[in-house]
Amino acid sequence: MDNLTEKVAELSKRRGFFFQSSEAYGGVAGFQTFGPEGAEVKRKIENSWRETFSRGLGHREIEAPTIMQEDVFKASGHLDGFDDMIIECPECGTSSRADHLIEDNTEVEEAESFSTDQVEALIKEHDLECPSCGDSLTDVEVEDFNLMFETSIGPGSGQTGYLRPETAQGIFVEFPRLKEYARNQLPFGITQIGKAYRNEISPRKGLVRVREFTQAELEHFIDPEEDEPDIERVADVELMLYPVGEQEKDDGEYVYATVEEAVEEDIVESEWVAYYLGIAKKWYKEIGVDMDRFRYRQHNEGERAHYATDCWDAEAEVDGDWIEITGFAYRGCYDLKKHDEYSQNDFTVFKEYDEPEVVEKKAVDADMGYLGPEFGDKAGEIKDKLEELARQKPEAFEADKVIVEVEDEEFSVPSEKANFSVEKTEEHGEQILPHVVEPSFGIGRIVYTVLAHAYDEEQVEDGERTVMHLSDRVAPTEVAVFPLMDKEGLGEKAREVADKLRSEGLSVKYDDTGNIGRRYRRQDEVGTPYCVTVDYETLEEEAETVTVRDRDSMDQKRVKIQDLAEHLK
Ligand code: AMP
Repeated sequence: MDNLTEKVAELSKRRGFFFQSSEAYGGVAGFQTFGPEGAEVKRKIENSWRETFSRGLGHREIEAPTIMQEDVFKASGHLDGFDDMIIECPECGTSSRADHLIEDNTEVEEAESFSTDQVEALIKEHDLECPSCGDSLTDVEVEDFNLMFETSIGPGSGQTGYLRPETAQGIFVEFPRLKEYARNQLPFGITQIGKAYRNEISPRKGLVRVREFTQAELEHFIDPEEDEPDIERVADVELMLYPVGEQEKDDGEYVYATVEEAVEEDIVESEWVAYYLGIAKKWYKEIGVDMDRFRYRQHNEGERAHYATDCWDAEAEVDGDWIEITGFAYRGCYDLKKHDEYSQNDFTVFKEYDEPEVVEKKAVDADMGYLGPEFGDKAGEIKDKLEELARQKPEAFEADKVIVEVEDEEFSVPSEKANFSVEKTEEHGEQILPHVVEPSFGIGRIVYTVLAHAYDEEQVEDGERTVMHLSDRVAPTEVAVFPLMDKEGLGEKAREVADKLRSEGLSVKYDDTGNIGRRYRRQDEVGTPYCVTVDYETLEEEAETVTVRDRDSMDQKRVKIQDLAEHLK
C-alpha cells in the first residue's frame, strides 16, 4: 500500500489514535498526544507487556522518578557519550542529524556507526545539501550533540538534573535496595514502564521519533557464571535473523533459525538475548505485529550503545522503512560497576559458595622494636613493603634475610623480625557484580506498528471500507452496540444491552447516530471486533436476540442477549 505512513497519520488524527500535541499553539516537533482510541491501545499493549514480561516471568515492576541528578548520568556515561551527530546549515540555521542526511540521500546504510570525521567526509563526497534551504553542507563541521534534556532542581540556580533518557537508570541506581528486596538471590528481574526523554535533533514520522516517549524495560540481573535461561520454553520459536555478517554482504540474506538453533550455531552470541528474542517474538505476534514485516537485526560494532556487548533489535517494516521497536542488549556489569564506583553504595551481591573454601592468608607482623632503632624514619615504609611482599612473593620469607627496596635503596631485614605467617581461613562466598540482560521496548513505536500493520482498505459491496484489523487484545473498543433507530423502545433496549456488557467487563461504545452502514464503517476504522444491533426482531421475540457482526468477515448472526457476553468473550 502506498503511503501507509500518511494514511495511518490521517486516520489517527481523525479517529483519535494520536496527533501533534498543542496544535492550538502551533505545536512543537517531537511531541504527540494519544487520543482516546490511541491511549486505550497503548494501555492495552502496556498491560499485555506486563502480563508477559513482568508477571508472566516472575519479575517485579517499579516506578522511579523521571528526573534524576547529574551524578547518575556522569556514572552511567550518558553525559559524555549519549550523543547524536548534528550539522547546522550556516545559511538558514536548520539543524539536521548528519547520519540521517547521509542515509536519506545516498546508498549508505547505518551511518550512525561512523565517526564524525567519516560522516563529514561522506557529506563532502556526496555533495549533500541542507534539506531545508538547499545550501551546500560540504564544508560544515559535524558535531556531537547530547540528547539529554537538562533541568534545574529546586529554586535559584538549584542543582542540575536531567530528564531520564531511558527508564533503565531508574532501576540501576536503586539496585542496593532492590538486591535487599530480592534477598541477595540472583537471578531476579525488575521491570518499569514509564516516560523517557531525548532531545532528538530531527523528530519525525509521528510516533516513531519523538522527544518524549514511553519505554517498557526489563533488567534481568544474573550471575553470568551460574544462571541460564529456560531455553526450553522458547526452543522451537522460529526467528528471522539478520546478523552482522549478512548485513555486510552485497547479497546478504536473512537467516531462519529456531531459538535453539540460533544458540547452538552461535548466531546469537548470548543465550539470554536469544531467550528474550523468543519470548518477545510470541508477544509481538499476539498483539498484532505482522510477522511478514518483522525481523531481528544484529547491531554492528559502531552502532552498539556504549554499555552493550551484544545487541539485537526487533524491527518492523512500514512503507519500506525498518523501524527499531525494541533493543535487546547484554549490558554485562557495565552499569552496576559504574554506579558501584561513583556512588557511596555497594552494588555487588554476596555469592555463597556451595562449599566453604579454605583460603591461605599471608601476613607479616614486623617487629617495630627492631625496625625503629635499626632503620629510623624509613621503618614505617619498610614495614609496608614487607606486607606487600608477603602478599606478592611469600617465598621470599623462606631465606634468612628479606630484601626490600624503599626509594631506590635496598634494606635487609632478618626473616625472624618480619614474623611472616600463613593463616588458613574459611570463606563462605564472595561479592560479585551481577550482569544485566535488557530488553528495552519503545511502546509508542509498537503502537504505531500495530496500527500500521492492522490498516487495510477493502472493496466491499457498497464501495470501499477502511478497516483496522486490530487484534482483540489491543482493540480499544471491544464491542459497539447500536439500536437500528433510536425510537419505539429500540434505544432503551440497546442501552440496556450496552450496560449489561459493560457490567461483564467489556469495553463498549454506544452509537445511535447516522445510518447503520456508516456506524459500521466508523467502528471498522477504529478496529472494533464486534458490532451488536438491536432491531425490531429483538423486541418481537421472547428469547430476545440481537445481530452480531464480525469486523473482519462482516458476517452477521443472531445471538440471544442472555448469551451475548459469553459469546463475545
Ligand atoms: P534505545 O535505548 O535507543 O535502544 O531505545 C530503546 C527503545 O526505545 C527503542 O527500541 C525504541 O523503540 C524506543 N525509542 C528510542 N528512541 C525513541 C524516540 N526518539 N522516539 C520513540 N521511541 C524511541
